[in-house]
Amino acid sequence: DCKGKIAIVGSGLIGQSWATIFAGSGYSVTIYDIDSEQVTRALANTKLTLERYEQDGCLRGKLSAHQQSNLICGSNNLKSCLQNALYVQECVPESIEMKKEVFTQLDEYCEEKTIMASSSSCINSSQFTEDLKHRSNMLIAHPVNPPYFLPLVEIIPAPWTDPEITAQTRSLLEEVGQSPITLNKEVPGFALNRIQYAVINECWSLLQSGVLSAADIDKVMYEGLGRRYAFIGPLETMHLNADGIVDYCKRYAEGAYNVSATFTPPPIKYDIPTAELVEKELRQITPTDKANERKQWRDSQFAALDKLKRGS
Ligand code: NAD
Repeated sequence: DCKGKIAIVGSGLIGQSWATIFAGSGYSVTIYDIDSEQVTRALANTKLTLERYEQDGCLRGKLSAHQQSNLICGSNNLKSCLQNALYVQECVPESIEMKKEVFTQLDEYCEEKTIMASSSSCINSSQFTEDLKHRSNMLIAHPVNPPYFLPLVEIIPAPWTDPEITAQTRSLLEEVGQSPITLNKEVPGFALNRIQYAVINECWSLLQSGVLSAADIDKVMYEGLGRRYAFIGPLETMHLNADGIVDYCKRYAEGAYNVSATFTPPPIKYDIPTAELVEKELRQITPTDKANERKQWRDSQFAALDKLKRGS
């Protein structure tokens, strides 16, 4: 009584994450990669990952890790990977040429109704789907790493994407436990990276002008803004910090405007000399040989926060 077939094309870090997410909801998942040994590695990795999640009490869904990994299989043939798939999640490296090549193949092998979504972090799909027959079935579904614990997915339709396909993508992603948002039009960097770059730009500027150390800049986020934004966004923060957002603007817009007028104009290029100074400082917190340990710690903290948020 499996729910239907999902095809994952490209089985690196992100392809493997998507496989665990879809299997968690009982979908049958077929993984394809241009490198057949990578398919074998991906199947072994997803099995181990699901077992670890089960041990750590953060496995999604009602099925056991064993049942979930049995839902994931590999294929060395793109055509058979796509056969009867209701949804394809493309996860090949970030290059327009590669996306173009893969979507041209998807266009050839897909069924009439197959939804084809790209995980691309910053390439809009109109840059690689324009000339394809099934372009109305194609769009971007950009996850955030690690997708199992940071559930936001940015859905960005091209101008020719069928709105019904966009809506179906959103409901499928909601059903499997992600938190999708939909951009009404294509824009460089989508939403997350536009906002992220605005933050980094100001961090860079504060560094360059010597206002704070790198470690203290990061602390502003993880002890202040980041904690707040893990639960309510910037607009609701304004709303709750006064008697509504209109009242907030009446009281604080002037001050915010005056501060904003002191910002250095974008775009700031993240220059290597400044990066080298920051790196020196950050290496004291996380030496090169401890980076993997630190990443594992980060992911376990994300898992704990995800548990808290899903329970609340
Ligand atoms: P990755 O390098 O880990 O994996 C890419 C995989 O694609 C490799 O296994 C490679 O063999 C395979 N591949 C290459 N050409 C192929 C082809 N023609 N057909 C099938 N498979 C092919 O990359 P990743 O980090 O998983 O990123 C994949 C996509 O997801 C990129 O577009 C990236 O921008 C996006 N993304 C990455 C992150 C992240 O943090 N890594 C976050 C969000 C989105």
